[in-house]
Amino acid sequence: MKILTCIVCPVGCKIKIDEDGNIQGARCDRGVGFVKRELLSSERILTTTVKIEGGIVRVIPVKSSRPVSKNKLRDIVKRISNISVPAPINRGDVVYEDNDVKLVATRSVPEREDV
Ligand code: SF4
Repeated sequence: MKILTCIVCPVGCKIKIDEDGNIQGARCDRGVGFVKRELLSSERILTTTVKIEGGIVRVIPVKSSRPVSKNKLRDIVKRISNISVPAPINRGDVVYEDNDVKLVATRSVPEREDV
């Protein structure tokens, strides 16, 4: 028996999957779809921060442009821990891209005036 918490909506149903693949506990079909996707290939939107140079703050929040395999999240976070991007950055700008992920700024950061 495996139990997953559905993250599709705030209700957070605890959904049980038995050894025969029977699914119980989902209040709606979206939860069943969530479980099937999770069992086949688990993906998440990556949200993190990236260092910024010359901005009014030191880091900028970013998110991946599409869901990323959970198996790759740790490697991606490790890769981007060493990068920094120059200010100014506008919300929606692509601040990093490689074969696995494209990271988009989720807020704007203007340039610091004393730089
Ligand atoms: S199964 Fe349906 S009601 Fe329950 S958390 Fe998932 S989406 Fe929400």
